[in-house]
Amino acid sequence: MIEQPALYLGPWQVLDILAVAAILYQLYRLTRGTAAIRIFLGILAIYLVYQIVDALQMRMLAEVLGQFIGVGVIALLIVFQQELRQFLLLIGNRQLLSGAPPWVQNIFGRTHVQTDRDATWEALRDGLEECRKRGLGALLVLKRDADPSPVAAGMRPLDAKLSSGLIVALFEKASPLHDGAACLDRDRITWAGGILPVTGRIDLPAQYGTRHRAALGISEQTDAVALVLSEETGTYSLAKEGKITSRIDGTVLVDRLREAMASV
Ligand code: ATP
Ligand code: MG
Repeated sequence: MIEQPALYLGPWQVLDILAVAAILYQLYRLTRGTAAIRIFLGILAIYLVYQIVDALQMRMLAEVLGQFIGVGVIALLIVFQQELRQFLLLIGNRQLLSGAPPWVQNIFGRTHVQTDRDATWEALRDGLEECRKRGLGALLVLKRDADPSPVAAGMRPLDAKLSSGLIVALFEKASPLHDGAACLDRDRITWAGGILPVTGRIDLPAQYGTRHRAALGISEQTDAVALVLSEETGTYSLAKEGKITSRIDGTVLVDRLREAMASV
């Protein structure tokens, strides 16, 4: 049998290269803007050096780097724990279930009651608009499928039916519960005063303080949507799946909420 030259490039090799490029690109997208990107690039660099060293048959260096890479796989799982978790959450939510017929989605606890939620969004909007007029800030976690409670801390249990008055009462500065986030599950506020995980992103504009960072943080770790009323600008932001949309006006808030909560 004739041995193939080292740089033989057939259709399978092209496919091979494209597949690896696609995987690396997805990994890059997932980690872009996080501290993990540096680690990702570092490991990629070690791997490239290893390949060169190996091709040049520099045995000892190849051996040392090879050991690094062996441990590196486990290190990667630990370092990218959060990204992997987010990645799996997204796959579980969107790709696998969104195309499935309603009865399959129901088996997985996905319900389609959206219409009667409009009253909830309007009550929420009215309450928040009142907060805005009073110069208050607010942070709400809107539960979808997963319970966001395990990643929050210090919550005060409530279980009260949502009303615009309740929202004002919660975020009024004199309220003992105003500091932190409140959680909305369907039409009930389940807890308030919760401390959310703050995002580790380092590429955010300076106007995002801890409240916005906490909203992003919870949206990275769970499938919940986080809603912020900025005390400084009086505008709304919505965070979902690790992305934040800002400068949302009170007039379009209900539409945006409906969109964010409906799409899976
Ligand atoms: P704003 O635009 O309203 O000023 P911001 O993003 O600039 O928001 P800060 O000014 O730092 O953020 O807001 C501080 C408030 O955000 C705190 O008083 C607290 O209520 C809330 N907050 C800060 N960190 C967290 C957290 N980790 N979890 C929940 N709430 C938090
Ligand atoms: Mg601020």
